[in-house]
Amino acid sequence: MANITEAEIRKIVESIVKGTASAASSYTSTEYNGRKLIGVYSDMNEAIDHAEKGYKAVRAMTVEQREKIITQIRKLTLAEASVMAEIGVAETGMGKVEHKRLKHILVAEKTPGTEDIVSEAKTGDNGLTLTEMAPFGVVGSITPSTNPSETVICNSIGMIAAGNGVVFNPHPNAICTSNYAVDLVNRASAMAGGPEVLVCSMDKPTLDSAAIMQSHPKIRLLVCTGGPGVVKAVLSSGKKAIGAGAGNPPVIVDDTADIMKAGKDIIDGCSFDNNLPCIAEKEVFAFANIADRLIDEMQRNGAYLINREQADKLAKIVLIEKTNKAGKAVKTVSRDCVGRDADVLLAKIGVTVGKDIRCIICETGFEHDFVQHELMMPILPIVRVNSIEEAIDLAVKAEHGNRHTAHMHSKNIDHLSAFAKAVETTIFVKNAPSYAGIGFGGEGHTTFTIAGPTGEGITSARSFTRKRRCVMADNFRII
Ligand code: NAD
Repeated sequence: MANITEAEIRKIVESIVKGTASAASSYTSTEYNGRKLIGVYSDMNEAIDHAEKGYKAVRAMTVEQREKIITQIRKLTLAEASVMAEIGVAETGMGKVEHKRLKHILVAEKTPGTEDIVSEAKTGDNGLTLTEMAPFGVVGSITPSTNPSETVICNSIGMIAAGNGVVFNPHPNAICTSNYAVDLVNRASAMAGGPEVLVCSMDKPTLDSAAIMQSHPKIRLLVCTGGPGVVKAVLSSGKKAIGAGAGNPPVIVDDTADIMKAGKDIIDGCSFDNNLPCIAEKEVFAFANIADRLIDEMQRNGAYLINREQADKLAKIVLIEKTNKAGKAVKTVSRDCVGRDADVLLAKIGVTVGKDIRCIICETGFEHDFVQHELMMPILPIVRVNSIEEAIDLAVKAEHGNRHTAHMHSKNIDHLSAFAKAVETTIFVKNAPSYAGIGFGGEGHTTFTIAGPTGEGITSARSFTRKRRCVMADNFRII
């Protein structure tokens, strides 16, 4: 499987850079254009064994060699961003090619590498104590369908920088895209003088393969990026786990905000990749005295306003009622609607618009399904409020205690501080589109694994390490 020559690798990369390869090419979870993807297995135990070999190879490398592999991953990610973006949309039916391309570029440029691993030294009368950030070993990573290849590459860079091996159990609905990224990481490794199989994955990931991963003795750390079900599953595994779970980010707009900018920023953020990012704006609480102007600005920026009756009709289509294990009726998002274009969603209620419409907006009450559910599609409910107290109270409730992400447009520092304190989210973005919170038009590094429940926050290489201390008593102090 891994017997691909360097000349062949270069030929493939060149063809992609020249644009002669595209998602129109054939792809499966094990092949791309007839080329076998490296690091993909049918048996999770076998995948873990190979990931362990990758880990041992990384352990034997210098940090400089590790960084060479990461540099090569960044180069290939930039060169093949369009291919992954196209496969991602074609396979999942979700999101926007151009936005997915930008997400890959962001991952390539702003995911920290080995520089994120910093040792600490403490000296004193009793000598020197050194604390180093060590790898865990083989990491088991569960990845979502919403940012599939982005998450595989972002996790790989951070986990390899930390000195780990990785085995992925990707989302079955995005397995071809995810495995393309796994193969990319392995090609980069081979090109930079690393092992041919550095990271591994499954050809047909299932809940059973995830269960094997979760209980396998060689897996020392679980990292899970996904909805509440899967995060709960890994946190119950008995192993050290990093959980990056669901959000439902509220936005408050008060009457001190630059309304023209707020309207544009909110639609830009909410419609980015058709609202698939977990950080994207999901519901707005607008002061009543600026709500009309805000809605006007949103419409000027590609939003289409529907009335309450249309909103109720659309809600019955995008949310499906199901009976859960406890026999209770629960509403879940329709997978046929997640990440779809706004015009496609509007067509479902008989409204025809062009592709220039990026987002559907509507005025609703707080209890409306659009406010309460994490839709992950370009539908944005707007609730009018009369005070900052009411806005914060409702926004905190709509966030459902996920403590994931929240946004605010305001120039009142008391309002901004009060909401930030009350909502307690991992990410809080002020006066910008949501994606500024992951380094896109905002300062700071990026990640596609935002670990709120377990506290690592905006994960990076150091999140995937364990601290080890070495003590030299009474010596090695140089003053
Ligand atoms: P999902 O929850 O449907 O699936 C995620 C992964 O978990 C998939 O690989 C799936 O096959 C697997 N899985 C599901 N149940 C499992 C179980 N019981 N045991 C083991 N594996 C299981 O995710 P999705 O729909 O692709 O992604 C959307 C969700 O993920 C949203 O809720 C979104 O907010 C969240 N998300 C969070 C972050 C973050 O950084 N916090 C990033 C992306 C997505």
